[in-house]
Amino acid sequence: MAPPKAKPGVLAITPYAGSEVGLGGTDRIVISSNESAFGPSWQAMEAYSAASEDVRRYPEIDARSLRKALATHHGLEEDRIICGCGSDQIIDLLTLCFAGPGDETLYTEHGFTMYPIASLGVGATPIAVPETNLATDVDAILERVTDKTRIVFLANPNNPTGTYLPEQELRRLHAGLPENVLLLLDGAYAEFVTEDDYEAGEALVREFSNVVMTRTFSKIYALASLRVGWAYAPPEIIDVLDRVRPPFNVSAPAISAAIAALEDREHTERSRRHNAETLPWFVGEVEALGLHVNPSVANFVIVRFPAETAQNAEAAYQFLFERGIVTRRVAGYGLPDWVRMSIGTREEMEDVVAALRAFVGAS
Ligand SMILES: *Cc1c(COP(=O)(O)O)cnc(C)c1O
Repeated sequence: MAPPKAKPGVLAITPYAGSEVGLGGTDRIVISSNESAFGPSWQAMEAYSAASEDVRRYPEIDARSLRKALATHHGLEEDRIICGCGSDQIIDLLTLCFAGPGDETLYTEHGFTMYPIASLGVGATPIAVPETNLATDVDAILERVTDKTRIVFLANPNNPTGTYLPEQELRRLHAGLPENVLLLLDGAYAEFVTEDDYEAGEALVREFSNVVMTRTFSKIYALASLRVGWAYAPPEIIDVLDRVRPPFNVSAPAISAAIAALEDREHTERSRRHNAETLPWFVGEVEALGLHVNPSVANFVIVRFPAETAQNAEAAYQFLFERGIVTRRVAGYGLPDWVRMSIGTREEMEDVVAALRAFVGAS
């Protein structure tokens, strides 16, 4: 007898590639996974420590107190919020509920890799839609919608390109979709965006029955290790998700820390301001070295290192890594010539600029 064999879709998955952290040493500059430069609010850390003293009991079954805090903070309805073990879990659950064998999902060419992974996992066929100038192309998405399409995934701003779709374009995309197609707006970096024409998705969720917005505590709140994400969705979709959501999927220390992080508005504002100032400064410095940076509204950028030269992306990655700077290669996102760098503290980014200057001058 043959051993158990996984479903064909599962075997088609290329496992998610993370960054090379956890290799020991605390003096390294880790700008590989887009957690906010200053780390979490100390109030969040205190709340986490306090809650960790009582891990004997199960947490709230549905993260009720965090949903309440999110509703107050964002001016939303508590019963239209669902929390997850990271927003990745919510992406998974939505895909599980709304797509299956024979169905198609659409995501942008350089979109977040969790979308094809989740789609293949349920037996659906993920289709990569071409981008234009490393940005979402609404017409290209709409052209690929068929009667098999079930979900359109859109990270806005997108990781790793850093580009975003303005509200008007978002609305044009939604207006072109059939009502039975779910539009998943992934706002993992929403808090960093300062552009006036940006809308994370709340307004569309309120207006339409086929839009869901996901958010996370991993990025601006820098609680990535605690795995807390959430979604705002129409009641019918919350009802569906609640049927498959594992009970107790957010731990009590994570709930406590996330609530405290929300309440420390000053820390969040400081993180946002830091990024708004440091991002353009860093881009200017890197461009002054003759390197090309893709325009970004998030807390990371991708920098181009042309393949045809000795100073290619792998060489840049290794050069920085040997100097204690951990960045992220994004070849798995169809961007073999680019390296992604998060915006760290000003001191860290000055070191990164110095290392890049040495790299550019070195060969
Ligand atoms: C980091 C990131 C997430 C967040 O994942 P969590 O599971 O909440 O940590 C979601 N979407 C995108 C595009 C991301 O970059």
